[in-house]
Amino acid sequence: MTDKTVFPSLPTKETVAPHFLRALIAEDLRSGKHGGRVVTRFPPEPNGYLHYGHAKSIIINFGLAAENGGHCHLRFDDTNPLKEDVEFEDSICDAVRWLGYDWDEHRYHASDYYDNLYRFAEWFIEQGLAYIDSQSAEEMRATRGTLTEAGRESPDRQRPAVESLALFRRMKAGEFPDGQYVLRLKIDMASPNLNLRDPAIYRIRHASHHRTGNAWCVYPLYDYAHCISDALERITHSICTLEFQDHRPLYEWVIEKLADGGLLERPLPKQHEFARLNLTYVVLSKRKLIELVSKGFVDGWDDPRMPTLVGARRRGFTPDGFRLLIERTGVSKNDTWLDMSLLENAMRDDLNEITERRIAVLDPLKLIIDNYPEEQSEECFAPNHPQKPELGKRSLPFSRELWIERDDFMEAPPKGYFRLSPGKEVRLRYGYIVQCTGVDKDAAGNIVAIHATYDPDTKSGTAGAETRKVKGNIHWLSAAHAKTAEMRLYDRLFAVPFPGARNPMGDTAGGVASNTAETVSADADGEVAEPANKEERNYLDDLNPNSKKIITGYIEPALAEAAPETRFQFERQGYFVADLADHTKETPVFNRTVTLKDSWGAGGLLG
Ligand code: ATP
Ligand code: MG
Repeated sequence: MTDKTVFPSLPTKETVAPHFLRALIAEDLRSGKHGGRVVTRFPPEPNGYLHYGHAKSIIINFGLAAENGGHCHLRFDDTNPLKEDVEFEDSICDAVRWLGYDWDEHRYHASDYYDNLYRFAEWFIEQGLAYIDSQSAEEMRATRGTLTEAGRESPDRQRPAVESLALFRRMKAGEFPDGQYVLRLKIDMASPNLNLRDPAIYRIRHASHHRTGNAWCVYPLYDYAHCISDALERITHSICTLEFQDHRPLYEWVIEKLADGGLLERPLPKQHEFARLNLTYVVLSKRKLIELVSKGFVDGWDDPRMPTLVGARRRGFTPDGFRLLIERTGVSKNDTWLDMSLLENAMRDDLNEITERRIAVLDPLKLIIDNYPEEQSEECFAPNHPQKPELGKRSLPFSRELWIERDDFMEAPPKGYFRLSPGKEVRLRYGYIVQCTGVDKDAAGNIVAIHATYDPDTKSGTAGAETRKVKGNIHWLSAAHAKTAEMRLYDRLFAVPFPGARNPMGDTAGGVASNTAETVSADADGEVAEPANKEERNYLDDLNPNSKKIITGYIEPALAEAAPETRFQFERQGYFVADLADHTKETPVFNRTVTLKDSWGAGGLLG
């Protein structure tokens, strides 16, 4: 291990926790298995936008490489010409860079290896380890067998190598239509591992590929292309999610054979699996994300409510927040669900460190200070960060008419309400103590303005100002100086932890799934038991109807000048970000990233 700092801007209170991948890499370095090298890769298919789950994979792969002085390759797994596009490649590159990582010159494509992959396939045929099968996909499925029953060998399994080779070359030459033949490895139709039952490794696809154009009409399948790509790139640790565990024997079979044949160099890469990120209150399946966008349930892929990384960015989430989440929740082989509050809390903790404080009034009510001269105004000074005096102070204009939050006033307050009410005193944060003297109402009885008087001897920061104690402390903006801004108040996209599940609220810990909406209990780590029956209802029925609310509020004048994507804490309200796409000086737009406190109940779960 080097002592290189891994996450330079990670809040210092966090430590880098040990986990099994760190341990096994440390062990490999100790034993010299890969000659002291650590080379990982992140292998997305360029067929969609990356989501929160991919962030985990990126952070693990790039993070482990950086920690160990190695590097991580960005490899586009572009073996399916029908679904892939350059538009997706660009967005994936942007997302990886946004998360803070760089692949340097190591940007590759599985399609870079088409020649090698083809040549190796011919070699397998020549060795009697692969054959051309004329069975249909259906027939192959039907003869594959089950977990308890061996598969049946194809009548083509004994086809002589010369004949398979000739057919394979004719496939490549474009002589056959899609589906007429496939190339299969000859492994073991009785293997208890279904992946080893003569897997198909090449198929005919008369389709134009976004990089290789019409050069090919036979394309390799994932299990064959992936392990060879890893080996050609001299990857040391091929880290993937648990669903690939049963593919590992095939991964090893293919590259071991090629290495035995002198076609690949040893030491070979080794595959290691970890548990994917599962999060409550969202869906991460590509099919569902596409449906949310195409049917207009959200405003596009970068809608701040979407669990995509483009959405996260527009929401105001931070790369360090994602790292913090992964560090806190660890990397393991246990497939668990994390509660959304863990992600939100990680974002809060990072944003608390890095954002400057500002004032915004979201639901304005006029406060008139009757004893303050009409034409007068003055400066008050507010710290940019309460724990970081080095970030300085800024000036807030104060004048006779102010905006305060509507819910900071109550005409008939209950016991324990310390904000403004008739006759009561409150401190205007960074300003004066005021006393409420009256209320203006319209004909319908709605409150339209509050009257107060201020005490000139109580200005914050002046001698003796703090000797008078009042319990309430509210924020405000000078009406003459404040600017209006569009505020997009985002909340969770789904109203329940497990959208679409028969029991969308999840199971009680250790309990049995039932139709009644039981409360999920998260354990101390925020891990939640997944409901037994994951999908029976339509997940769209579980959308949160209040996930987006647009209002007009008031902001400090200088906030209009903020660059898009600048993040702030609006005091007492939450973390906000100047919208990446729509915020301008003339029409400021702020997105609420997350409220200051979890409003979804203990552990973020509905009670
Ligand atoms: P597809 O259904 O198209 O295969 P995918 O989500 O697996 O979708 P890939 O582009 O194949 O997308 O994923 C790239 C990498 O990200 C893979 O190594 C995959 O294991 C990893 N990954 C995908 N989803 C998650 C997740 N929820 N948590 C952690 N890693 C993930
Ligand atoms: Mg995949």
